[in-house]
Amino acid sequence: MKKEKNAPQCSFCGRSREETQMLIAGIDAHICEACTEQAFDIVKTEVTGKKKGGGKDGINLKSLTPRSIKDHLDTYVIGQDEAKKVLSVAVYNHYKRLSAETTKDEVEIEKSNILFVGSTGTGKTLMAKSIAKFLKVPFSIVDATVFTEAGYVGEDVESILSRLLQVCDYNVAQAEKGIIYIDEIDKIARKSDNPSITRDVSGEGVQQALLKMLEGTTVNVPPYGGRKHPEQKMITVNTQNILFICGGAFDGIDKHIARRINTHVIGYKNDDDEGPIDQDQLLRYINHQDMKSFGLIPELIGRMPVLTWLEPLDKVALKRILVEPKNAVIKQYQRLMELEDVKLTFEDDALDYIADLAITYKLGARGLRSILEAVMTDAMFDLPSKKDIKSFEVTREYAEKKLAKSKISFLKAA
Ligand code: ADP
Repeated sequence: MKKEKNAPQCSFCGRSREETQMLIAGIDAHICEACTEQAFDIVKTEVTGKKKGGGKDGINLKSLTPRSIKDHLDTYVIGQDEAKKVLSVAVYNHYKRLSAETTKDEVEIEKSNILFVGSTGTGKTLMAKSIAKFLKVPFSIVDATVFTEAGYVGEDVESILSRLLQVCDYNVAQAEKGIIYIDEIDKIARKSDNPSITRDVSGEGVQQALLKMLEGTTVNVPPYGGRKHPEQKMITVNTQNILFICGGAFDGIDKHIARRINTHVIGYKNDDDEGPIDQDQLLRYINHQDMKSFGLIPELIGRMPVLTWLEPLDKVALKRILVEPKNAVIKQYQRLMELEDVKLTFEDDALDYIADLAITYKLGARGLRSILEAVMTDAMFDLPSKKDIKSFEVTREYAEKKLAKSKISFLKAA
């Protein structure tokens, strides 16, 4: 559809009347509702030194320390101490770097995008989400696989930024300080370590496209995502200060690590080698070289200087996940029941059983919720109508009985 030549449009972001909810006319210009709000924020920040109602962007980034960031992560994420520590330091440095920018520092601190390696359901997304929530910065999650066929039928890489803009109501200044989590980054690895063998558009093409964005550049973003088309008005976003956290399971990376370590051990041994290598925990020895063998291009690896790993969750961790995090799923059920005046408790043995099941069915932490759902459905259905019952304990026997007749028990046969 061709736009009328003199049709009114926002003189700030260029959106047409159809693309805005409101277009306010001035003498020679127009302004839309989103730009009005953004202008209001800017004025308020400049005049009072504070953001609107201390809301988004409300945290005082200057008062942060890596320890305070990790303390916060500890309330949501169980275990994963190494990853939490690395993430806290990287995030701290990132926001320090932002505040240093105004003071014309001579040493330019480079951005420290982060790469998480760990199997699915170990807390990668949770960690990125928790940190953004703590910092009160805009946060969005994108899946690298939607870009797999970029240039063909998938989405353009720029649409990563459209989602970030959407979560902060198109406030460009806020988006430019946000955090983007790119999931399944391993799925865009090129299929062979030798770049000349095939023209692997799906993998390497997307990696190339991501490069600039991760490093920091000005990108013209289609406000509503999807593919760019020539007549669409674009919003310009600078990615210089956006923190990218990438995550992936990197299935099979252990073989690359093992190969590298073995060569290394046979070749020569460092004096500071800490005894024998733990074959079950190969991930802890991961380095950027393994990423290259896996199929990420060196330029992209270089844009994610902080590399860390998440350990698989064992039974003890799963049990803790059930009860300890601030919004632990057991706490949620207890709260729901409390609203019905019922005190809900769980026998320790029942928790053991649920954690064991999650391991047997290979459901990981993500499965805990579905198992509990199956255990609790009948109680959640009956208790609200039994006003005389004031307490309810979920025992192992009860959990076993409920699960035996649920769909989950079929997983065992599969
Ligand atoms: P992934 O590593 O695949 O990104 P997620 O972070 O999405 O995994 O985890 C899925 C869910 O499992 C989370 O929403 C959370 O409830 C739970 N979970 C996973 N790992 C942890 C953890 N270490 N601590 C607490 N909860 C966790």
